[in-house]
Amino acid sequence: MKKYCLGNWKMNQSLEEVKAFSKDFQESSNDLYIGIAPQAIHIPYLLENTQIFIGSQNCSEHKSGAFTGELGPQFLNELGAKFSLIGHSERRQLYKETTESCIEKIKNALSNDLLAVYCIGETLQEFEQNQTKEVLKNQLLPLLETFSINDQDNIVIAYEPVWAIGTGKVPTLDIISDVTSYIHDLCLQYKQDYSVVYGGSVKPANIKDISQIPSVQGVLVGGASLKAESFGALCRAF
Ligand code: PEP
Repeated sequence: MKKYCLGNWKMNQSLEEVKAFSKDFQESSNDLYIGIAPQAIHIPYLLENTQIFIGSQNCSEHKSGAFTGELGPQFLNELGAKFSLIGHSERRQLYKETTESCIEKIKNALSNDLLAVYCIGETLQEFEQNQTKEVLKNQLLPLLETFSINDQDNIVIAYEPVWAIGTGKVPTLDIISDVTSYIHDLCLQYKQDYSVVYGGSVKPANIKDISQIPSVQGVLVGGASLKAESFGALCRAF
């Protein structure tokens, strides 16, 4: 299965920092799919000045029209963007995105040749109450009931425990292995087998162990993707 090293810059990076990253980042996408989702305004610069895949942090479920502030997949594709994160926990929590709206966004992304990186994960409370698999199942079933084996290469599932994002807390390797195996098994019940990446406080210090878990096909990284040096170190672990 293909491996992915994906960066989510969120609402960070000045133009100067984007330029410095582009100059210093030496890796290129060959066997490993290396992608960065910057603020949308920096997509054109990164497309012109790097050798990696550039994507968006979100995209609209609508084709075009009166949707102020939204990003249309058709227009992202026109620019040369290659993927979109969909359903990141910050979008779900801060902007009230639902699994149902995420499925519509994935449909729209796929119709416009964007790889959809579908983010799922449980909150701390759900984790502590042993509800992780139930929560993930609820987030995954609408996906599995909508798409098919034909979409296999166009969707990646990002397992991101909400409590691990930006906190420095990482689940044990056994938990990451168990949960990502569960995701693969559930997908297989629907005759689908997507690449599954892990996200949540991935750093150069823990990437070696995480990258060796057989049910993990890569990582989605926030903080450690901002600097060329640390993101490069993560890419080299695969
Ligand atoms: C993320 O934003 O998806 C993420 C995983 O962030 P961090 O690596 O900073 O925890």
